[in-house]
Amino acid sequence: MIRGNILYNDFCYWRFNLAKAKGPFIWDESGKKLIDFTSGWNVTNLGWNHPELQNAVIDQVKKNTYVPMWTADPIQNKYAQALISSLPKELMVIGRATGGTEANEEAIKTARAYTGRKKIIGFKDTYHGQSYATLALGYSSEYETPKAISPMPEGFLQMDFPKTYGDSRNGVKILADFAEKLEENLAKRDVAAVVTEAGIITGWGSTFVAPKGYLTLVRKLTKKYGTLLILDEVGTGFSRCGRLYGMYLENVIPDIVTFAKGMSNGVAAIGAMVTTKKIAQKTFNKTNLTSTFGWTPIACAVGLKVLEIHQRERIWEKAEKDGCYLISQLKREFKNNRLVENIDGMGMEVGVRFVKSRKEKPIATLIEEKAYEKGLHLISDSETNIQLMPPLTIERRFLNRGIEIFVSLVRTLSSSV
Ligand code: PMP
Repeated sequence: MIRGNILYNDFCYWRFNLAKAKGPFIWDESGKKLIDFTSGWNVTNLGWNHPELQNAVIDQVKKNTYVPMWTADPIQNKYAQALISSLPKELMVIGRATGGTEANEEAIKTARAYTGRKKIIGFKDTYHGQSYATLALGYSSEYETPKAISPMPEGFLQMDFPKTYGDSRNGVKILADFAEKLEENLAKRDVAAVVTEAGIITGWGSTFVAPKGYLTLVRKLTKKYGTLLILDEVGTGFSRCGRLYGMYLENVIPDIVTFAKGMSNGVAAIGAMVTTKKIAQKTFNKTNLTSTFGWTPIACAVGLKVLEIHQRERIWEKAEKDGCYLISQLKREFKNNRLVENIDGMGMEVGVRFVKSRKEKPIATLIEEKAYEKGLHLISDSETNIQLMPPLTIERRFLNRGIEIFVSLVRTLSSSV
C-alpha cells in the first residue's frame, strides 16, 4: 500500500494516524482513545512518551547531538558501561547499531569471522530483520519475499522451532527430539552460529514457546561443537518476558546478544551487538562494523535513562506478575471457546491462537478491527494469532479493561462465526 507517498507492506499496512500517545494509551486523529496492547510491537515497554525519557532527550540536545564514528561522546561510554553492567560479565564489548536488523547482521558477520565457518542455523518462520542475511535466517523460501528478491544468501539452514503448541509429544520428548536434530546439524563442526530468541518467538506474530530447558540445551550443544550462540533479544529484552533480559530466564550466557526496540523505548533509533572480549578482539578488524547513526548521543542518553528506569522499578517483576495474570484470565474466560485454540506466552508477551476461519477475512484481522472500534489497540500479522504486548507499566485497571474488551468481542465473534 502507498499512502501519502509512504510505502506500507501487507502486515504494516496503514491503519490510522496516531495523533497522541501517553502511558498505556494512544489517540487517533478523531480523538478516539485506545488502550494499547501492542507497545508498538515490544518497543514502548515503559509506556508511551515517558516524561523522564523526553527530558533525557532535551538535556542531551542542549549538549551535543552527533559524533562521527571515529570520535566519542562521553554519554556513549557512560551508556556502554551501564549496559555492560546489566549483563553477565563475559559480555563486555559492544557493536553500535541503529536497530535490530543491523545488530543481527553484525552478529552474523562476527560469528563467521570468529569461527571461520560459513553455516548459520536459524528457525523457520521467525523474524530477525529485513536484510538479506536476517531474512535468510527465518523466512521460508516458499514465501513471496525470498522468491521476489532472490538470490538469497548462501549458508543458512532453517530448523523447525521446537514449539510445544500443536505437538502431541510432551515437552521432554519435544526437546529430546530437537536435541538429536540439532546435534546432527552441529556435529560436522561447520556451523558458525545458531541464532535464536530466548525460548519464545516474539517476532512475526507467532509467540510459539519452546519447552523449558530449550536455551540451556542450545547453549550446551553449541559449546560442545564450537558453534557460537547468538541470542536475539530485540523482542525479549528490556523486561518483556519477565526478566530484564530473556537470557536470565534460564541463566544462559550467549556468545553474542543483540538488542534494539525497548532499548530506547522508541525514542531514538538504536541497536547493539554485545559480545565477549575474546570474540571482539579476534574479529573487529575483519568485520568492519561501522554505522553512521549507530549510538548517537541522543539515543545513548535515552538508552541510559531507559535502563535506569527498568532497574530502578524492577519492571520485569511486574511484567512477570501481570503476564501470569493475563494468561490466567484469558484461559479462564476462553475455557470452552470454540474459536480459541491456544493461549501461551512469557511475561507480557502473550499469544492467543484462533482456529482458521472460513470467513473471507482472517479471524485475527477481524478481531483487530473490532477491538479498534471498542477502544483497544491490537496488532496481528498472522491469520490466526493475536500477540498481546501491553506496555509493562500499565495499571491493573487498564489491563483489566483491555482484557474485558478483548474477551467480550471474541465471545461475540464466536457466536457469529
Ligand atoms: N529481531 C526480532 C525478534 C524482531 O522482532 C525484530 C523486529 N520486529 C527485529 C529483530 C528487527 O528489528 P528492526 O526492525 O529494529 O530492524
